[in-house]
Amino acid sequence: MKILVINCGSSSLKYQLFDMENESVSAKGLVDRIGIDGSNLTHRKTGAEPLTVTTPIKDHKVAMQLVLEALLDKDHGVLKSLEEISAAGHRIVSGGDYFKEAVLVNDEVMEALRKCIPLAPLHNPGHIMGIEAIQHALPKLPNVVVFDTAFHQTMPDYAYMYGLPYEFYETHRVRRYGAHGTSHNFVALRAAEILGKPLSELKMITCHLGNGSSISAVKNGKCIDTSMGLTPLAGVLMGTRTGDMDPACVPFVQNITKYSADEMNNFMNKKSGLLGISGVSSDLRDVEQAAAKGNERAQLAINMLEYGIRKYIGAYTAAMEGLDVIVFTAGIGENSAETREGVCKHLEFMGVKIDSAKNKIRGKEAIVSTDDSKVKVLVVPTNEELMIARETKRVAF
Ligand code: ADP
Repeated sequence: MKILVINCGSSSLKYQLFDMENESVSAKGLVDRIGIDGSNLTHRKTGAEPLTVTTPIKDHKVAMQLVLEALLDKDHGVLKSLEEISAAGHRIVSGGDYFKEAVLVNDEVMEALRKCIPLAPLHNPGHIMGIEAIQHALPKLPNVVVFDTAFHQTMPDYAYMYGLPYEFYETHRVRRYGAHGTSHNFVALRAAEILGKPLSELKMITCHLGNGSSISAVKNGKCIDTSMGLTPLAGVLMGTRTGDMDPACVPFVQNITKYSADEMNNFMNKKSGLLGISGVSSDLRDVEQAAAKGNERAQLAINMLEYGIRKYIGAYTAAMEGLDVIVFTAGIGENSAETREGVCKHLEFMGVKIDSAKNKIRGKEAIVSTDDSKVKVLVVPTNEELMIARETKRVAF
């Protein structure tokens, strides 16, 4: 069985074709700059040289057509017929509180997806165009939508509500939704497998630390809290995002700068975080290098990041009334031994003992706590596309 995983943005279309017999990727690629000058497709059959096509691509329908042609190409393709594709799985950033799990696309689902646009105005319109494009090209193909928010829908109301007047929730659905749910779900399942214990018996904190970062409390396999909120701005310090701060900072800064709401949003999302504090870069590698050379603001940014993660781990341990496993994933979590060690070395009081030698790894699965550590610490590379492919198979067949 072959499943096409699609991640559409407003001007891009990323795809991976999975062979579900062995969960391998047969081909993958990216259509970039859709509707903009210089649009192009880069396609790569696994193990082969990439194919690059630069041509005007006016919309997502044209982009999808190009992808399907590349999959059939006699040199770069991996399919003899498009009928070999059994289903498509679409990554959807926000399903609001309409979707508690992945579902098969029908008219009602498309209607609800449109209602979720205000919650992810930069992402959901592109996702919808992607679904419509493949429906146009392959009308009989089952489509499944897999939501970044779905895994967090098990949070109790007292964890997802904000202290605004209740009508704001009733009328405008203002609440915590979280993000990266597909990744949290994937690494939680994999960590339980690695430890050989049922997920339903574990209290786990999953730390997805990338350019955007979120931390989740996963109690007996269910998410009970997560650090991102209505939007991905909340939580720990990120590449260019503030993370948590007193909400009154917003009008305070606006009064000084005279920024409009949109300008202020941009300031908090694009100019802050590691970049804003260090003045060096949004990329942790650059910030680590600068700190090693004695840059104090770079060191401050690192201290804020590690301290923020530690506070969430403390809070979520209290929320779950205990802790068995910490999982690190995504760019920083998988690669920065310094961040993992910086977070864990202060948690010995609650049974977390990191093994510095085992922790010196990058980008691969490992248990990095000592054998006698009460809480196990794991590195698990995330694979959101594979999780989407698995969910698509589960829902469609
Ligand atoms: P995104 O959220 O855009 O998917 P990633 O998960 O790729 O981002 O994470 C990007 C982050 O991972 C960047 O801050 C980058 O510096 C960090 N990172 C990647 N490799 C390393 C490394 N070897 N050491 C420290 N940080 C790293």
